[in-house]
Amino acid sequence: MRASGHILLISCYELGHQPFHLASLLAMLEEAGYRPMAVDTAVDELSDEVIQQARFVGISVPMHTALRLGTQLAQRVRSINPDAHICFYGLYALLNAEYLLKETIDAAIGGEYEVPLLHLIAALEQGEQKPVAGVYTAQQKSEAWVQRTPFRVPVRQQLPDLQQYARLQWGDKLWLAGYTEATRGCKHTCLHCPITPVYNGRFFAVPIEIVLADIRAQVARGAQHITFGDPDFWNGPTHALRIVQAMHREFPTVTFDATIKIEHLLKHRHLLPIMKDAGCAFIVSAVESLNDTVLRHLDKGHTQADIIEVFDLLAEVGIVLRPSLLPFTPWETLGSYLQMLTFFAQRHLIEHLDAVHLSIRLLIPPGSALLALPESHAWLDDLDAAAYTYRWHHPDPRMDRLQAQIAALVETAEQTKADTVETFFQVMALAYAALGHDFSVADAQADYGPGKVLPHLTESWFC
Ligand code: SF4
Repeated sequence: MRASGHILLISCYELGHQPFHLASLLAMLEEAGYRPMAVDTAVDELSDEVIQQARFVGISVPMHTALRLGTQLAQRVRSINPDAHICFYGLYALLNAEYLLKETIDAAIGGEYEVPLLHLIAALEQGEQKPVAGVYTAQQKSEAWVQRTPFRVPVRQQLPDLQQYARLQWGDKLWLAGYTEATRGCKHTCLHCPITPVYNGRFFAVPIEIVLADIRAQVARGAQHITFGDPDFWNGPTHALRIVQAMHREFPTVTFDATIKIEHLLKHRHLLPIMKDAGCAFIVSAVESLNDTVLRHLDKGHTQADIIEVFDLLAEVGIVLRPSLLPFTPWETLGSYLQMLTFFAQRHLIEHLDAVHLSIRLLIPPGSALLALPESHAWLDDLDAAAYTYRWHHPDPRMDRLQAQIAALVETAEQTKADTVETFFQVMALAYAALGHDFSVADAQADYGPGKVLPHLTESWFC
């Protein structure tokens, strides 16, 4: 299995960036002497011929969308090459393993996947039948593998050029963007988060020299901006600061973005000017909702007042805050949804949003910590195994109808590259209509004035 093509690694979707979860695994396997072939189907074709040659197919499923696409791909692999061993790896692989193992895949690895996957390939090569630690199969159940990985510098030579991926847009200019991770897992346990059932509050820091080497390799291939895709860049703030300062010393014109939770932004606010000086273009934060009841239910660790304070703090420092939202949960109301829209409109913050976030509906994968909530029987329905989520209904049926309307609207807006401000007010019109009120999009747009293009990545990100 050591020859090129016999091990096939596939990524289907990684939020528009060059797939880190291929690069990281390629490093581990190549060091062990394997010569895997890697294909990113988000930008490249995968031929039947390549599938036919594979004896082992690893499919990366770090998020819900990747899992949906990965399942279709696994079915294609199965029909073309029934003898290939198909393994899903990544955050969503294990949450859905029981269902997927029935016919679609042979193995699933969650958490720190590199080492178990390497051991699985070695065992298959030697014809061993015994269970491999960290590998979930039809014969053996397994928890996520949450042990420190011997990190290696990701190997990217085989991956498509950065030109094929999302870019940083700022004003009317576009910059090539790279991606890396300085930590794995998360020390928090927010109830709705898919990281919680896998890492359960644990996280690991990637050695600084490895992160910097990965950045160096991407800058050499043209990256002018780096996204730090850690679940939370400030789980280890000193570690994060050392990395961005070292990056800035070596590449003073390279900018970056990172995801940081509201609680951390408040607690370590004194670090924000250092981030700005090191080239921080924007910070993504999982604001989720402006409704304190919702935030309490999600165990987010922040309040509406905290969110407002963080918007003000970042504005003072000159870093754009881009909130990610989860506005459709059982606890949001039509009134509080409209209040959230009004907040963004009145404070001139519409351009901070990606419209898709106005439509996001809570996903409850198998294993979700939300399933243990005593009051969940009021809104929780059965498991939709094929969609990898439990069904749930909002206590107010108008909210479910509204979510479907907004999802259709923002999908069309994304395809047609519609104006962000206009799309926002069209969403607002739908919300008012759900209440039985009229709302003029044209008047609201005229009051708001012309929109501006704040720094953002050209792929609208969601799970
Ligand atoms: S939502 Fe963010 S802070 Fe909470 S567990 Fe997930 S990654 Fe960590």
